[in-house]
Amino acid sequence: MSGETGTARKRRASLVLKRLARIYPDAHCELDYESPLQLLIATILSAQCTDRQVNLVTPALFERYSTAQDYARAGLEELESALRRIGLFRSKARNIQACCARLVANFDGEVPRTMAALTSLAGVGRKTANVILGNAFGLAEGIVVDTHVARLSRRLEFTHQSAPDKIETDLQALVPRKQWTMTSHWLIWHGRRRCRARRPDCPACEVRSWCPSASEPND
Ligand code: SF4
Repeated sequence: MSGETGTARKRRASLVLKRLARIYPDAHCELDYESPLQLLIATILSAQCTDRQVNLVTPALFERYSTAQDYARAGLEELESALRRIGLFRSKARNIQACCARLVANFDGEVPRTMAALTSLAGVGRKTANVILGNAFGLAEGIVVDTHVARLSRRLEFTHQSAPDKIETDLQALVPRKQWTMTSHWLIWHGRRRCRARRPDCPACEVRSWCPSASEPND
């Protein structure tokens, strides 16, 4: 909001997040996984693709490949064919192979628990690393900024930035560290259910009284 002080924005963010936490008490990562490796693979697959599409493909994939070595040893064509229902499946298959080969060579086949080690893997940027650290290991190293988090953060004027790393920095200054992982879940859930990219449902929005972008019913 124009002229808003940093303290006022922090207070407003706290009220918005408290409300979202009440609306979405079960908010969680919507990718299906049972291990850090499965979450890593699913998150690599989710780039420019919906979680639902990923969840359709991963049960058979996880059944077929259970260790990093399995992926590293698989033929590229075989892996591509297992992923063909996913967008960008060729480059994702290559990344998964390279990523898992490095896991085997450098990390005993285990998914590492640090930002530096994770982002050294093929296909893994800061966003993916934050997903793994926060959800598979319960480590709040950062805040996942995907398309929903970016859109809501701007609409709610938690940030005026567009670059994900700058949005993340602004959010980190607003939100207590212990809430970093849940903050992205709450924003993602609200973005999918209410504050959609097109035609956000402002009239029914539970946080509209704190939102500078709230539109009126007939806007
Ligand atoms: S009031 Fe509208 S723009 Fe603001 S968070 Fe709610 S749905 Fe999004």
